[in-house]
Amino acid sequence: MSTSQSSTASCKECDNDLDDFYSPGYCSEDCYHRYQGQKLLNIIENTHTHCANCGVRLKEVEKPPKEFLVGMGQQSAESLVGFQYTTPSAANGEVDVDDTPGREIVSTGTICGECGNTNSSECFPEDRHRHLVEYGHRFLESLEEKRREGVHDKDVDEPVFFEALVESDDLALALGRAIQA
Ligand SMILES: [Zn+2]
Ligand SMILES: [Zn+2]
Repeated sequence: MSTSQSSTASCKECDNDLDDFYSPGYCSEDCYHRYQGQKLLNIIENTHTHCANCGVRLKEVEKPPKEFLVGMGQQSAESLVGFQYTTPSAANGEVDVDDTPGREIVSTGTICGECGNTNSSECFPEDRHRHLVEYGHRFLESLEEKRREGVHDKDVDEPVFFEALVESDDLALALGRAIQA
């Protein structure tokens, strides 16, 4: 265990010591950018309306019309997300519900018709690597939609993004580098 000096702080991204930090909280420029990029990616990856693997929109969610909420308690009105519709990128297929060996239970649900992902919140690095630029386009498109919806306010520089993507094979890092200040 190190007894050196004051701080026990570590990089927000990789947990390295902050001896040689790039920006407060990060040990290097890459960590700083990857962290910022991942924050943007999370907007897409953590929603059930988009495929976390390739970034395409699978479902539209519409706020229920006001009339629909009449007579509903405040709380149930707030917890009602809205009506969902699937987009042409969504498909129906077998979805693993329980993959305990010898006890495979499958059910039918929404899968991604673009990349075949059966779990909208999972991503697969090998598949991403194979379709790097294609998925990059989809993530950019979905992020641009989210920006128009007011979910975030980050502008992404496309040429910088694709150059960084091909160089690093790292979606989060490339996005972080391309975020306009
Ligand atoms: Zn770091
Ligand atoms: Zn997909």
